[in-house]
Amino acid sequence: MKILAIGRNYVAHIEELKNEVPEEPVIFMKPDTAVLRNNEPFYYPEFSQDVHFEVELLLRISREGKNIDTKFARKYYDAIGLGVDFTARDLQAKLKAKGLPWTLAKGFNGSAPVSEFLPLDQFPDLQNIDFSLQLNGEVRQKGNSSLMLHPFDAIIAYISRFITLKTGDIIFTGTPAGVGPVKIGDRLEGFIEDKKLLNFEIK
Ligand code: MG
Repeated sequence: MKILAIGRNYVAHIEELKNEVPEEPVIFMKPDTAVLRNNEPFYYPEFSQDVHFEVELLLRISREGKNIDTKFARKYYDAIGLGVDFTARDLQAKLKAKGLPWTLAKGFNGSAPVSEFLPLDQFPDLQNIDFSLQLNGEVRQKGNSSLMLHPFDAIIAYISRFITLKTGDIIFTGTPAGVGPVKIGDRLEGFIEDKKLLNFEIK
């Protein structure tokens, strides 16, 4: 399986990082070795002093497809989950300054904790899903899928023009405002609506 992710998909987060609003989605990848499941702890990497959390809604691909039309995109994912796109912000800043790829800043081991997935029929409206992240019991990020610049179906259509999607692939759909650093000993808890899906420690 592969992990695809979209950057800069919520205006408030683009503004907090002082990035430009992109005309087309910004896409990057994480390797399968980035995945943490079942609320395994995240081990802080030695190469960074500024690892940030970014909570994001996830799509689980259920069918192989390329060049998918937006109006058929819904047939290619069957479940929504919650994930954290851990980012070594100090390393990313150096790479961005040189115009180099973000791969190491975004794709290191454990940089993609993912929750269990909830079937689509549990969501009355995919364009109105609340999600949030708490750091040590305090709400730090709150988002709603209605605020995405590129909604789920548009992301599927765009990515599949370039990269074939396969069953089991996961798409990170971007983070709302409020990203910030973690430190050893912290606990992150993530919610979709009122359901707690993530609950793990930084070690
Ligand atoms: Mg992100």
